[in-house]
Formats: sequence, C-alpha cells, structure tokens
Amino acid sequence: MTQRQPLLEVKDLSIAFRTDRRTVLEAVRNLSFEVYPGETLGILGESGCGKSVTCMSILRLLPERTTVYNSGEILFEGRSLLTMKEKELSRIRGGEISMIFQEPMTSLNPLFTVGDQLMEMIRIHNPGVSKTEAYERALDAVTDVRIPNADRILASYPFTMSGGMLQRIMIAMAMLNRPKLLICDEPTTALDVTIQAQVLDLMNRLKEESGTSIIIVTHDLGVISEMSDRVMVMYGGRKCEEGGAREVFFSPKHPYTQGLIASHPSANLDKYRLPMIPGSVPSLRDMPAGCPFNNRCIYATDRCAAEFPQNDPAGEGHGVYCHRWREVNPDA
Ligand code: SF4
Repeated sequence: MTQRQPLLEVKDLSIAFRTDRRTVLEAVRNLSFEVYPGETLGILGESGCGKSVTCMSILRLLPERTTVYNSGEILFEGRSLLTMKEKELSRIRGGEISMIFQEPMTSLNPLFTVGDQLMEMIRIHNPGVSKTEAYERALDAVTDVRIPNADRILASYPFTMSGGMLQRIMIAMAMLNRPKLLICDEPTTALDVTIQAQVLDLMNRLKEESGTSIIIVTHDLGVISEMSDRVMVMYGGRKCEEGGAREVFFSPKHPYTQGLIASHPSANLDKYRLPMIPGSVPSLRDMPAGCPFNNRCIYATDRCAAEFPQNDPAGEGHGVYCHRWREVNPDA
C-alpha cells in the first residue's frame, strides 16, 4: 500500500517571544502534526493555548523582531517555509496557502473597493492576467460564495458591509487562486449563529469542489465537529490529544479534551467525571512545568508536575499525551 504524503508537515516546532533582553516566553513547544491533501484538520483549545501562534507561524506572519524559533521545521510539499526566501514565500501566501482571520476588516483595506482588492490579489499571483479577465474572475469568486448582485458588491467599500458579508468576501479572496491549503483562524467567532452556519456550509462546499485542505482553528466545539476530519487538541502550547474527529469527540481520552466536551452545552454531562474545567489557562509567564494542564487537572500527580507526557496511542491515529489516561478511562 502506498503511503499518503502530507501536504504540510510541522516537526518539533517550538516558538518563543522575546519580551525584553532577559525574558523569552515559550508559546509553542515541540509541536508536530501533519495535514494531508483534501482533509480538514481542526485545532481545538481555549484562548491562549498556542493555536493561532501555530497557524501564523506557517506563513511566517509572527513579528520577526520578537519571535524566536527554538526548534523545528515546517514543510509544505517538502519545501521549508521557515527558511524559504521572503520572495518565494510571498508567492505562496495568498497563492498556494491562504488564510482567513476572525476579523475580516483587519485583512481588507478600507480605502479600496472590494473589487480592487480582489483584482489585485489575482494579478499579484497571475501577472499575465488582464484587468478585464481579473474583473471576470473576481465576479465569479464573489458569485461562488453566493453573494447576490456581485457587480454592485465589487464596487462597494468594505465598511459598508455586514460582518457576515465581509467574511464571505474574505473566503472568496482566500479561494481566488485555488489554494492547496486554507488556514482559518476563528473564522466564524464574530458572526451570529445563523450566518456562522452559512459560512461553514460554504467552506465545506468549496473544499469539496476544489480539494483544498483546511486547517480550522477555534475554541468552538460545534464549529470543529461540523468541519473536521481529524482533530488536534492543544493546551499550553502543546498537543494533548489528536485523532479522527469521531474518535476524539465520542471517545476522548485526555482529561482536558473530556473537560472541553463536557462543558459544551450540548454534551451529556453525566458521561464524564469532569463536568467543568476548574481555573483558567495560565499565562505564558506562569506555565507550569511537566504537563501544562497539571494545575487544573483533578487527576494530577507529582509525576505530572515533573515530566511532560509523551504520545501514548489509544488506537490507530489516536494519540494521547497524558501519563494517566488509562487509569482515567478504565473501560478503554
Ligand atoms: Fe492530568 Fe497528569 Fe494527564 Fe496532565 S498528565 S492531563 S496532569 S493526569
């Protein structure tokens, strides 16, 4: 059997931020994961768990002056994104890899019409395309995300539009050059529930049509379960559980994943013994040694405070980073 080649490989990535001459705070530690062609990987965790930092690092969008890559590499189709020349990387950004952020207004220029911005994006990555052709493609892209009166929208300025409309424009923009990988950082957090469902539907449809792989980052369990083929749960800049979406949602093994699921409004609260996660995510300055979850975990022992747990597989493709998951789940 031939092995599937990953589209994206993140290997042993550690990222820190320099706050002053003496202080360096680690935000992501020894993180490894892959994204395969055509799949959606959901990255789940509370705010401050290192999800967004991980995503921003893929396109080297973290501030260069203060970011320190302590270890690791990021390979996109075998090419190293961390060491690639800026010129080559800028061709990949918005071309082979696109990104959608929570706040569309931060990605759009208020001084230019939506049409100008879409056409510019097309022409940057396809220098031979004429203005007329770029306009036609922009029109198609806006129609593709089911926005009526596309020509009127292209002539409008971003500040005249609702949040839901802007997020559709961002999706249209991100998909313009048919990226191989789309990274979505909390793409629906600022939207109300109905619009959120429409935007998720739209992303799923575009993924089916184009075969684009997606990384979706969110703290929202509903969004992750709607979108993901596989899920990676992060805490304290580390991976704590990873596996097929069904496996992780219906048979979570890590106490943190169990707590997240149990505290979701639709969860069956009787199913797990950890209905709510006590405390809050520690700041980077106060990150505990050993397992980063140890000061919130009701199962923590001295070993948990001293030693970070390595991957202990719970099944095929299902990894758990917990010293005690077998005791916590005696029926597993
Ligand atoms: Fe809890 Fe220890 Fe497992 Fe961490 S390693 S989740 S502290 S039991």
